[in-house]
Amino acid sequence: AAYAVTFFTPHTGHIWSLIDNQVVDAFEIVLALGCLARARTRRPRRSVALVLGLGLLAWALGDIVWTLESSPSAPSLAEGFYLVFYPLASLALVLLVRSQVRHIKPSTWLDAAMAGLGAAAICALFASNTIVDSIRGSAASVTVNLAYPIGDLILLALAIGAVTIVPRHPARLLIFAAGCVLMAIGDTVYLNQSSAGTYHVGTLLDLTRPAAMLALSGSVWLRSSRSAPRSAVFERAPRALILGLVSVACFVILVLGNVERVNTVALALAAATLLARAARMALSLREQRTLHDARRHQAVTDELTGLSNRRQFLDELERALDTSSDKDPDARKLALLLIDLDHFKEINDSFGHQTGDALLRQIGPRIHQVVRHEDLVARLGGDEFTVLLYGADAYEATTVARRISTLLEEPIDVETVSLHVGASIGIALAPEHARRAEDLLRCADIAMYRAKKERGSFDVYEASLDDEGDRSALIEDLRAAMTEGSLALHYQPEVDLQSGQVVTVEAFLRWPHPTLGLIPPEHLLVLAEESGLVHSLAAWVFEEAISDCAKWWHGGHQVAVAVNLLATDLLDSSLPRRVSELLVQANLPPRALVLEITEGMIMADLTRSKRVIQKLTETGIVVSIDDFGTGFSSLSHLNDLAVGELKLDRTFTSRLQVEAAGDRDEGIVRSIIQLGHALGLRVVAEGIERLGFVGVLAALGCDSGQGFAIQAPCRAAEIDFAGLGESRSVAASH
Ligand code: C2E
Ligand code: CA
Ligand code: CA
Repeated sequence: AAYAVTFFTPHTGHIWSLIDNQVVDAFEIVLALGCLARARTRRPRRSVALVLGLGLLAWALGDIVWTLESSPSAPSLAEGFYLVFYPLASLALVLLVRSQVRHIKPSTWLDAAMAGLGAAAICALFASNTIVDSIRGSAASVTVNLAYPIGDLILLALAIGAVTIVPRHPARLLIFAAGCVLMAIGDTVYLNQSSAGTYHVGTLLDLTRPAAMLALSGSVWLRSSRSAPRSAVFERAPRALILGLVSVACFVILVLGNVERVNTVALALAAATLLARAARMALSLREQRTLHDARRHQAVTDELTGLSNRRQFLDELERALDTSSDKDPDARKLALLLIDLDHFKEINDSFGHQTGDALLRQIGPRIHQVVRHEDLVARLGGDEFTVLLYGADAYEATTVARRISTLLEEPIDVETVSLHVGASIGIALAPEHARRAEDLLRCADIAMYRAKKERGSFDVYEASLDDEGDRSALIEDLRAAMTEGSLALHYQPEVDLQSGQVVTVEAFLRWPHPTLGLIPPEHLLVLAEESGLVHSLAAWVFEEAISDCAKWWHGGHQVAVAVNLLATDLLDSSLPRRVSELLVQANLPPRALVLEITEGMIMADLTRSKRVIQKLTETGIVVSIDDFGTGFSSLSHLNDLAVGELKLDRTFTSRLQVEAAGDRDEGIVRSIIQLGHALGLRVVAEGIERLGFVGVLAALGCDSGQGFAIQAPCRAAEIDFAGLGESRSVAASH
């Protein structure tokens, strides 16, 4: 303000000198002491305030000495004080940056270097060449005189660099940087003027130094404003802007340097800036490549163990099998070890997943101890690991397997427990056992299962271990049987225990195999499932059973046919429509069909099953729960299912039929029957093997029953529709 007054007041020569000397000295002392006081009283960034305070104090002292010295020597004592200011101010700036950011990435350092050097280059551009020429005198005075512009440049470079580094640009940093910029501009103009001899006291130029000092000390006083989080773009924009401007400017400086006389300092700084830029670009490229590599690595490694994952393993196996085909016979060899930990599930269940994971992490390093560096160790998933031994034969493979097994037998310390795991290892060799990746893996799997079953630690695949060969022949036979029509349905009547009449006839699949005899239906169904024939098989059962049933109705026997459903049938929402259509075609009412499903099938997908059952019941088809009492499904679901019938599992009936049956067995059966009745369901007993038992079941309240004692499953033509007959009916015997 005092400066301003002097501009507008004429003839203020001596006042000017008073202001420019004593007043400014006092002002600067106040600023310096203010900073030091701030360092004493407040905690955060105390060191910044202290160092900056000392720097400002040095400058102020320099000014005081300058004022007091009547005829300054060159270099004078004052300059000693002045020059202390630069390193202290630089240090304060560094401390300020450190208080704002913890970790600085190499790329950010380069950005900062680029911005700082570029700013310095621009500043140096405006310093005329006469400055250097004008600095003359003793070596000491030249050094001292050069120290100011260099100090200014360094401080400017640091300040612009700092603004580039610190993310959210806090006000205290911006004001510090503003001070540095002001100082650099002021000093450059001053040096230009004084070297050209155009400088005279009393212009705005004299204001820059005190104003710059004010800005610097302001940085100590500004509080941290909790600025709202800004978007990343907004945060990055200033940095990008500075860097862009600086690169363009430096490029221009270098071009200018070719046509005009640009001072060497500016040229050198511009060149350095562009070098930093090049380094930065190289670094970005490298970072990108590292990132790319890391992504690739992630895609092919198992997250938990860091080993190769299944995908990488299969790719590598395929590659190895492919390339091995045309090389020398030794290079063709490949051994695959499939390692499955024993008791891992128990460990996981009793010690928790964390322990399980920690255990799995230790398996890889153990296996690595006994294989060569080039062999591949992978985790297929769960507790399954595999090792690919290149060029290994049976002997080498079993040697490695034995070593791995011994190592895995040893207890593994996980956290506080010591775990015994052990492993079963299956070995398959290429090209002897298979030439394709999935086949080789399957062979190793079969060998591993045999090792597990026979409690050996490892086993080598043998073709005879594998009934796959027979299996595929059997599947072919099944396909042929289905097309030739040699499959058959057998039927077993179910009688009403009160009237003795046949109410339903249950259909069972039969396959009389030309050489193997009757194939059990369970086995047949598994085969059909594996070969994808199961849907056409199920469809055939429906058609056959319904057409047989139509014949019975035609012959005057109005009995329902019961068909056993497959798990997949229940997942098919078109089932109700399909069976209704078949019934309509056969001219049968819906009640002519009973569909039997087990609890397990229902529980596999409860919501879906519920819907299908509901739909079937709505059409009038009876849905029956087969093998009831064995599925452990919650009784609470029973009420929600729109079923019409319970079939008490054979195990209950057979327990009751033995001599030693106790009250408890009878109690359970009675309770199930009561439960069924309470829910409005019919209760059917399976597996009645003694005729005398019919009375017992009837007395317990059972509605109907089936079993060998009534009639064993037989061909359609042999069904005895007389049932228990008038004479054998329970009602008659009572
Ligand atoms: P399931 O539905 O529980 O069939 C009852 C099984 O008990 C039948 O065996 C039947 O022959 C047998 N059995 C009948 N009376 C007695 C008896 O008094 N005592 C004893 N111990 N057993 C008796 P099968 O025919 O071997 O069928 C076994 C299972 O195979 C059936 O159990 C059923 O789950 C399935 N199955 C059979 N045929 C078909 C079919 O066409 N489709 C579907 N999805 N499954 C079928
Ligand atoms: Ca059944
Ligand atoms: Ca059953």
